[in-house]
Amino acid sequence: MRKRWVPVVGLAARSRVALAVVQSVTALMLAAYVASTILRSRGSASVLFDTWVGNLAYAGATVLCGWRALAERRCRWAWAAIALSLAFFTAGSVLWTSTIQFWTPVPYPSPADVCFLVFYPLAYLGLGLLIRDHLPKGTRAAWSDGLIAGLGVAAVGASIVLGPISRASQGNTASVLTNIAYPVGDLLLVAMLVGFLAVRGRRPGSLWWYLTFGLVLFAVADSVYVWRVTSGTYVTGTPLDGLWAVAAFALALAAWHGRPGPDRDGPPGQPIVVPVLFMISSLAIVVLAERFNLLPAAVTLASATLVAAVARVTSGYRQLRGLADIRQQARTDELTGLANRRGFYGGLQSALKAASNVGELAVLLVDLDRFKEINDCLGHRVGDAVLSQIGQRLARAAGPGTVARLGGDEFALLAAGGQGVGVAAAAQVQAALAEQVTVDGMSLRVEASIGIALAPEHGDSADTLLQHADIAMYEAKRHHLGWELYAPERDFHSRDRLELTGALPRAIAEGQMVLLYQPKLDLGSGRIIGVEALVRWQHPTRGLLTPDCFVDLAEQTGQIGALTAAVLEAAVRQQAAWQHAGIELSMAVNLSALNLLDQRLSSKVARVLQAHGVRANTLVLEITEDGLMTDPEQAQDLLGRLRALGCAVAVDDYGTGFASLAYLRNLPVNELKLDRSFLADVTTDGRARSIVQSTVDLAHSLGLRMVAEGVETAETLELLVAMGCDEAQGFYIGRPVTAAEAAETARASRATATLAQPVG
Ligand code: C2E
Ligand code: MG
Ligand code: MG
Repeated sequence: MRKRWVPVVGLAARSRVALAVVQSVTALMLAAYVASTILRSRGSASVLFDTWVGNLAYAGATVLCGWRALAERRCRWAWAAIALSLAFFTAGSVLWTSTIQFWTPVPYPSPADVCFLVFYPLAYLGLGLLIRDHLPKGTRAAWSDGLIAGLGVAAVGASIVLGPISRASQGNTASVLTNIAYPVGDLLLVAMLVGFLAVRGRRPGSLWWYLTFGLVLFAVADSVYVWRVTSGTYVTGTPLDGLWAVAAFALALAAWHGRPGPDRDGPPGQPIVVPVLFMISSLAIVVLAERFNLLPAAVTLASATLVAAVARVTSGYRQLRGLADIRQQARTDELTGLANRRGFYGGLQSALKAASNVGELAVLLVDLDRFKEINDCLGHRVGDAVLSQIGQRLARAAGPGTVARLGGDEFALLAAGGQGVGVAAAAQVQAALAEQVTVDGMSLRVEASIGIALAPEHGDSADTLLQHADIAMYEAKRHHLGWELYAPERDFHSRDRLELTGALPRAIAEGQMVLLYQPKLDLGSGRIIGVEALVRWQHPTRGLLTPDCFVDLAEQTGQIGALTAAVLEAAVRQQAAWQHAGIELSMAVNLSALNLLDQRLSSKVARVLQAHGVRANTLVLEITEDGLMTDPEQAQDLLGRLRALGCAVAVDDYGTGFASLAYLRNLPVNELKLDRSFLADVTTDGRARSIVQSTVDLAHSLGLRMVAEGVETAETLELLVAMGCDEAQGFYIGRPVTAAEAAETARASRATATLAQPVG
């Protein structure tokens, strides 16, 4: 990256004051001089204004450019050359206004003209150095644009200005040459500048605008001047003289107030505009040459411009077509023909730009469930066929252009609208997937988990939105919800969550994790025969936090091992205390799926039991279905070892996961805990009832105990008893409570059970 050019900042405070004084005086002189040329009707020489005020304005501009050369290292020589060119111009003006204009006859060319003409080579040098320093690392196309622009401007200038002037020029060779030297000199300067601007592309920066303004003004003033001289109408002190002064001042402004614009490394923005523009102008010159009697030089320049422009447009067109092809390829997913991740990003970014003041957007991330199994069991060819069919269905469901395959089995959709539209799109996706996919005569059911994030509510950048949709998708997958809307409070990356993550290790180490115990009722005896330990975080400022706020945090940050160890330790210690007090209760402890990957888990459990003298057969370890499926072989191995210790193993939240009963049959488990979602409408819905009934029967036929979770009403409890369920747990029986309260409930249940035997 080149250094940004901010010269004024680099000056000492004192110099800055001096600079401001010189600038103000120069501006004042310029204003006074220009005003005087306007007010003096028809131009009449004024020693005060022409010789003093006007020349002071030139001298000021010269000093300012020279000062710039001394003050700043970057472009020092460029500004030195420009300052020198202005110095010659000033000298010419001083000579002319103080003496030469009063000679009779007034010579043409005069010594003043020599000074004015020396201005050009020095100005080329300065401008050339400036250009060299600010040229982007252009492509060949950019360079040819510069050449075309330079030639084109020269052709236009030669036709409009040179022709009439050369025809009107009379007298000796020196005066004719001088007449032509001025406009040619200016034309070259402007052509250089336009060429550069064409290479530079859009937004070149104020430096170049000041320079362009100043140099074009010089060209205009010179042309008018030569015209006046050849027609013998030039007089000193008209607004024409003011133009030169303003032009010189524009150069001084460029020196101190011009900013070069951001550095650019690529090619300019509109590749074809410059050549086409000059192609048209040059064509006009060639066609109209005879009619307007244009100079051969103009026609030659125009022809050269035409040749260069045609070559450039042809190669540019070829390049563009190639580029468009590559661009299309780079944004398309080969397998499905949908947009790929890059294409989706691009589309999302432009949609976000367009939507920023219009409305909302919904981003859906669709991840197929258990696609790995299809790939592993049926091979990649089938997997690919499934993906391509799903891609087509999604495109049909949501309309093309808004659907993309991000990679693997992950698709993304973009819908214009808020939450309603996003949810409706998710429903459409689910409907599109409802029908089975057929590959090689084989029918496969493919389901997906969908995460939805909304703009601007959940983020205003493509990255954030996709990330949030991904988090929501993960939630949907974890809880088998089908689709889920992003919720910041569940986002592990949100500030709140980050804070909790940071505090978690200390909280575990310092005993902020406390246990509540929820009673489990044996439906046969009507007694509380056990409890489930449910962890809570007694947070110093936020109060009591439930597991859904921090268990997944612990999982994601590698602290689940420590958390489980703390819970296990506290639960077994509590059980020892109860056994000591003569209270016999089984204790259920929840394990996370990640705990199953810990090879030493069974020995840790054994150590804790031994340390507190608790019998292994009173400890139940609860593992969710999904936990068992994360790594089935490892799970089987670990469960075997836990069973060998004497512990019981329960499958938690049964029915929400993907494990089939056939698979569970091979696992050494003791009980199934039917997820509470099954009990929600079991008393009112016949279908729900038959599902529960057959699950109970199946469990029994596999020799497993059936535990119902989430029993909230007396009717549900009665029904479960009637169905032959073994145990029940739920708010109706008892909420999670402290150890003392749990012991009290157990004792009371024993008393009532022996008295009345209400259930079972
Ligand atoms: P879970 O193991 O299925 O625990 C039962 C959850 O259902 C508990 O929520 C309990 O309060 C709630 N519940 C019990 N009866 C009813 C009822 O009748 N109606 C309703 N609506 N809810 C009922 P809790 O304590 O918030 O725990 C949520 C989940 O967090 C647990 O589900 C378990 O998966 C996990 N968890 C709890 N403690 C631990 C732990 O120490 N370690 C690990 N890894 N996970 C834990
Ligand atoms: Mg549990
Ligand atoms: Mg459960």
